[in-house]
Amino acid sequence: MNTKTDVPSLEPISSLSWEEARNIRYILMDIDDTLTTEGKLPSESYTSLWKLHRAGLAVIPVTGRPAGWCDLIAREWPVNGVVGENGAFVFWEDDDRHLITLTHPNAIPNSDPRLVALRDRALLQVPAARLSRDQFSRLYDMAIDFAEEEPVLSLSTAQAIKEIFERGGAHAKISSIHVNAWMGEYDKVSMAIHYLTERFGYDDLHDADSVMFVGDSPNDEPMFAHFPMACGVANVLKYRKLLTHLPHFVTSRKSGAGFSECTHVLLKRRTS
Ligand SMILES: [Mg+2]
Repeated sequence: MNTKTDVPSLEPISSLSWEEARNIRYILMDIDDTLTTEGKLPSESYTSLWKLHRAGLAVIPVTGRPAGWCDLIAREWPVNGVVGENGAFVFWEDDDRHLITLTHPNAIPNSDPRLVALRDRALLQVPAARLSRDQFSRLYDMAIDFAEEEPVLSLSTAQAIKEIFERGGAHAKISSIHVNAWMGEYDKVSMAIHYLTERFGYDDLHDADSVMFVGDSPNDEPMFAHFPMACGVANVLKYRKLLTHLPHFVTSRKSGAGFSECTHVLLKRRTS
């Protein structure tokens, strides 16, 4: 049942009921500052992914990170696919360990001259901004780094970069580290729904509360807005003023520790 408009926001994850927990079949999560803490993947996050996988849940990261990273994640992590570049594609391994790629029909390669011109404009108008160091492994978007490396720029500077792209006709989203921009009509949620439907027989009209999504920042907002069982890690509160749609649940701990807290509650409720 998809009744997101009626769902209150920022309830403590400890209030997750056993009925809600047992109904969840898919666990989707952002990576940066949701699984990672200060740029590293802590052992507790990776252990949580294995616990969720072994509990029989479909585990699917949904990230702004590039195709080059998603190849590794799909092959080496305990996951059932990974949505990358904010919804441009999903990669997964089939039963024979072949890597399968599904690209969103609206995805436009990042060599598009309009996007290249907007990248140049953003870098010219915001001199402290720089192209992200993972740009070389991206296929569909441009990522402008404002907080992955030093100097860390303000959220208002990130907002200004986002507006340069949007004024030029691109889509742009702010993650905890980058401003990602692309030309096609898609986002994290449209690709996640498409993948769940095609691969697992998910029915978005009736099954939205079988999806728990965990995230932290404005590029996760389409997921917070759509899925009634969405959960923010505590650092989501930093972006409260930038978010129209807040997640239903929130953890008391930040980043990877928050993801582990969410995993612990979810798995405990399912077995109690
Ligand atoms: Mg994030």
